[in-house]
Amino acid sequence: MTDTLAATATAGGLPPGSGSVALVVLAATLVYAVSCTWWPFRRCWVCKGTGRRSRKDGKVFRPCRWCRGTSRRLRIGRRVFNAIRARQRDAA
Ligand SMILES: [Zn+2]
Repeated sequence: MTDTLAATATAGGLPPGSGSVALVVLAATLVYAVSCTWWPFRRCWVCKGTGRRSRKDGKVFRPCRWCRGTSRRLRIGRRVFNAIRARQRDAA
């Protein structure tokens, strides 16, 4: 039973239609990568772009530690891009 399952899994390869799915994913990744290049920052959702956070009673304000008071945060895609760039720079 397990032998036949393993055989079909290896012999079958990718399920039909996975090619177009991969294409869509690739296109979406490309669009996301381009958008991350154009807009590397997005508004900090923790402080809602104010750069500071208030205590629950609303009396004490402190700089937002998520964006360090800049009210902007680097997008994940851009962070990955920077990491790849840094690795390439180290390799060269
Ligand atoms: Zn913030």
